[in-house]
Amino acid sequence: MLTFTFEAMQAIGDECMSSEGRQEVGGVLGGRRQLNGPEVRSAVPVENCAEDPRRTYIPDHEAMMPALHCLDREDLQLLGTFHTHPGARAVMSGPDVALAQSGGLLLLIGLPAHGEMHRSWEWRAYDPLASAETSFAVRPPLSAPL
Ligand SMILES: [Zn+2]
Repeated sequence: MLTFTFEAMQAIGDECMSSEGRQEVGGVLGGRRQLNGPEVRSAVPVENCAEDPRRTYIPDHEAMMPALHCLDREDLQLLGTFHTHPGARAVMSGPDVALAQSGGLLLLIGLPAHGEMHRSWEWRAYDPLASAETSFAVRPPLSAPL
């Protein structure tokens, strides 16, 4: 089973809000592989260097190194990556299929169109190691659990 710490969910949510649904944003996911599945404990944004960032997310290589060092400092494993699909469903595009085949956890977040970020967000995760696919809805703002 895929699980997230509240801090990781909040970091992903903050990054999603930063774009206001204008372009794809994303980053790396750090955590631990537990017996029952991956636990995402940290999400570090990595700049999008795609030619058309409204339709594609390509993590910037130079920005990737400091993000990986962040996970290292927290003694976390690189579990995979996340990115958004603004105004679209959280389903794999052609480049996403290639990314998923690289072996890491792939988390896609289908965001509402610009100006409708208060609506629920579709999160879909592909875990190639467990051959598992999970999807759920997240309703912003992400507030502290009671
Ligand atoms: Zn994508």
